Amino acid sequence: NDAVYYRDTWAEINLDAIEYNIKQMKQHIGTTTGLIAVVKANAYGHGYAQVAEAALKAGADMLAVAFLDEGILLRKAGLTVPILVMGAARPRDIQAAIDYQLTLTVFHRNWLKEAAAFHRMGKLQFHIKLDTGMGRLGIKSKSELEEVLKDSCSSDFAEAKGIFTHFSTADELDSSYFQEQFGKFETLIKGLQNTGMMIHCGNSATGLRFPERLFNALRFGISMYGLAPSSEMRGILPFPLKEAFSLHTKAVQVKKMAEGEKVSYGAVYEAEKEVWIATLPIGYADGWIRRLQHSEVLVNGKRAPIVGRICMDQCMIALTEPVPLGTQVTLIGSQGKEVIPVDEVAERLDTINYEITCSISTRVPRVYT
Ligand code: PLP
Repeated sequence: NDAVYYRDTWAEINLDAIEYNIKQMKQHIGTTTGLIAVVKANAYGHGYAQVAEAALKAGADMLAVAFLDEGILLRKAGLTVPILVMGAARPRDIQAAIDYQLTLTVFHRNWLKEAAAFHRMGKLQFHIKLDTGMGRLGIKSKSELEEVLKDSCSSDFAEAKGIFTHFSTADELDSSYFQEQFGKFETLIKGLQNTGMMIHCGNSATGLRFPERLFNALRFGISMYGLAPSSEMRGILPFPLKEAFSLHTKAVQVKKMAEGEKVSYGAVYEAEKEVWIATLPIGYADGWIRRLQHSEVLVNGKRAPIVGRICMDQCMIALTEPVPLGTQVTLIGSQGKEVIPVDEVAERLDTINYEITCSISTRVPRVYT
């Protein structure tokens, strides 16, 4: 929080909420299951290093990111704990992974063979990714898995430390496809259970619903940030989650408009009667996209609509009475008794909560409380 900002728009990240969600989840899954804090995509928009540190303080055992650069960024920020790169890394980048002590994901039979030529020194640690029905990254057959395990056993530059899969429907109440994937995973990992390899399959939804099905660890993403993995799951959470992300700005100009006066590009909004218009310094370049025209914000604990088109850096709201310049306006989060949860913005945009916090651009300063 030592950075100085000159703009009146910021995202507030409540690290206590993140720590609370992790502690609750740890209680829920039990002490023998590890917790991997998923901090890819700038920790779902919340801030890589700050979230990583809070997660570790709350008892996370490991971090996970999507690609190598994200892992290196965390190392450069001073984090020394194990970090799993869950997405595809190029075989030719093996040495960077070793140098930064990042655990990579091996997801096809030729990966190790191709990496051999690029290895200079040290030993790579990796997890094997199995595709049990997500249809994304991973090995599908026992024979391909056996080939990778064999290559790993005879390798002097790489060592298999874990094996995992990812579910595509763990957040849906109908668990039939989840069961199918789970069954495939169990079959593929047969014989590997007592080898010291770390075995993991669960995301937030799996951890919340099936805490007994996690093997050695949970990969905890969305609900670490206090968000439900799906709208279906909002009603069946085993413990309440605390949202960590809120978004705020301030009224930088407030002016009276008479009936018939217009606002913003295209002059599509026209005051039907006398109205007070406040200009907010946030726009689509901040991730507050144009389709959020007509959505609501909070001013003095009450809702007010965004009127006229959202511009790149600014947008306007309509008020029934004037407010002083500098009045705080909340786009996500609470003011008094009124709240605009991330889920409300997601529903308005016909998308999922994950996409909302990720899309608030990096030019919006993150402030930590
Ligand atoms: N594991 C993998 C492979 C992922 O891609 C993700 C995120 O999408 C997660 C775990 C975390 O999932 P969630 O955010 O639903 O907890």
